[in-house]
Amino acid sequence: MDQGFDNVYQLHGGIIKYGIEQEGEDFEGKCYVFDNRIGAEVNKVNPTVISECHICHNACDRMVNCSNPSCNIHIPICEACGWELHGACSEECQTNLKRREYDGTGYYQKSSNGYNPYKGFYRIKKDLVK
Ligand SMILES: [Zn+2]
Ligand SMILES: [Zn+2]
Repeated sequence: MDQGFDNVYQLHGGIIKYGIEQEGEDFEGKCYVFDNRIGAEVNKVNPTVISECHICHNACDRMVNCSNPSCNIHIPICEACGWELHGACSEECQTNLKRREYDGTGYYQKSSNGYNPYKGFYRIKKDLVK
């Protein structure tokens, strides 16, 4: 690859460790993580918000899923706009008939097929017991 950056270094132990040990002073914004935390605080010295609300464009780093399940876009929406649009990303999604109940978090439990990675399928377990 010819394009890109010449000097790229990997942070030993990762961004989160950098935040814990060095207080993350030179890190801007939040670190997006792929679990329930969604955004992890790294900079404890002078934290900044670099994203903006999808609706009103005020500074905002509150990541929510659109309450319309067939949209489900993951975007920053501020507290006020979240309640205003019932957790939807647009007027259109807000009026969607399948819109999920917004509880102020913008996080929706995935509908389950009964599979639990720690237990396997419940049905299979029951068959084994017999
Ligand atoms: Zn907003
Ligand atoms: Zn939407």
